[in-house]
Amino acid sequence: MPNYSKQGLKGKVMTVCGPINPKNLGKVICHEHLLIDFRVVLNEPPNKKDIHHMKEKVALSNLGWIRTYWNSNEDNLLLEDINDSIEEMIDFKLNGGQSLVEVTPLGPTRVADQHKKLKLISEKTGINIIMGTGFYVDNSLPDYFNNKSTEELALIIIEDILKGNSGVHSGIIGEVGCSFPLTENERKSLKSAIIAQKETGAAILIHPGRHESSPLEIIDFIQSNEGVIERTIMGHIERTIYDYDTLESLAKTGVYLNFDQLGIESSYYPLNPKSYMPSDHQKIEFIKTISDAGFNDKLLLGHDIYSKNRLKKYGGHGYSHTFENLLNRMKIIGMQEEKINDIIIENPKKILAFE
Ligand SMILES: [Zn+2]
Repeated sequence: MPNYSKQGLKGKVMTVCGPINPKNLGKVICHEHLLIDFRVVLNEPPNKKDIHHMKEKVALSNLGWIRTYWNSNEDNLLLEDINDSIEEMIDFKLNGGQSLVEVTPLGPTRVADQHKKLKLISEKTGINIIMGTGFYVDNSLPDYFNNKSTEELALIIIEDILKGNSGVHSGIIGEVGCSFPLTENERKSLKSAIIAQKETGAAILIHPGRHESSPLEIIDFIQSNEGVIERTIMGHIERTIYDYDTLESLAKTGVYLNFDQLGIESSYYPLNPKSYMPSDHQKIEFIKTISDAGFNDKLLLGHDIYSKNRLKKYGGHGYSHTFENLLNRMKIIGMQEEKINDIIIENPKKILAFE
C-alpha cells in the first residue's frame, strides 16, 4: 500500500484510484455525495396529516410531496446502492463530466465500506473521484470524537490522506460541518482540519451554518488559527448568503465560493423554513454578478446530491445537470465561454492540487 508524503503529493490531485496530474481532471463538479446516509436530518413533516409518508419507499405517487419535504421521508435520505451511482456516473460521463468531489464526512453519514465502494464506482466508470475526510456538524460526529484530542483528530485526517485506508486515499478535507454560531466540537473539528491542511497540503471544504454571518465567522476562526484561506472552499453559498455586499466581502477574503445547490428548484427549504432556496436562475445570476465583479477565479459548482429524489432514476436532475442544462443557460445570460470553462476546469485544478 503506498504511503505518500506532503512533498510527494505537491502539485498532484489525489483520487480514490491514486494521485493524478491536475491536467487530467477535465470538467469537475466540486460538491457531491454518491453514497450517503443522510438520515441525520430526518424530521417530521410540518403537517401532521403527512406523517404516513415518512416510512414509505420513494415512488411516483409520493415524489411530488418528497420534492418539497425531502427530509421527511427516510428512504429518500439513503443513497447506498452502488449500481445507482454507477448508472449516474455513466450518464455524467456522457454529458462531459470527468471528475467529481465526494465530500461525505467521517462518521454516521457514511455507508459501510464507503471508501472501497467509491473506488469501485471510479474503476467501473472511469470518473475521477476525489474523496473527502474530516468531520460534519455537531449532531453527526463519529462516536470516538469526544474522546480524542484535536491533535488526535488531525492525525486521523492526515492518515486518511497520506496513508489511506485499504489503499484508498482522501484528496480533500471536507465537508467540514459548521453551525452558526460555531459549537465547541465544531471549533475542535475545524482546528484539526487546519492542522491537517498544514501537514498535507490538501484543501479544506466548508459546510457553513445557515446564517449570513456564518461564513465570515468561520473565516475569522481559520485566520486566527493560521489556516490558509486561499486553500479553503466555502460551500452552500446560495442557501447562506442572499445579500450581494455580504458575498463580495466574503470573496475579498480570498476564499473559494462553491455554488453547490444547483438543481434544487423547490424554494421551500425544510432545514431553514424561514429562509428559502433560490431558483437555478437566481443562482446563475448571482454567479454572473460575482464573476463580473472580478472573482471568477474563485468560483466552483456542485449539486450536493444527498437524496434519491435528485437522482435521474427517481425523476431528479442527476449529477450531470450543470453540464446538461446550466452551462448553456449561463451563456444565454451573458457569461463568456472562457469564464465558464475556468469555473469547471481551471479553478478546480488549482484548488484540488496539493500544495
Ligand atoms: Zn454536502
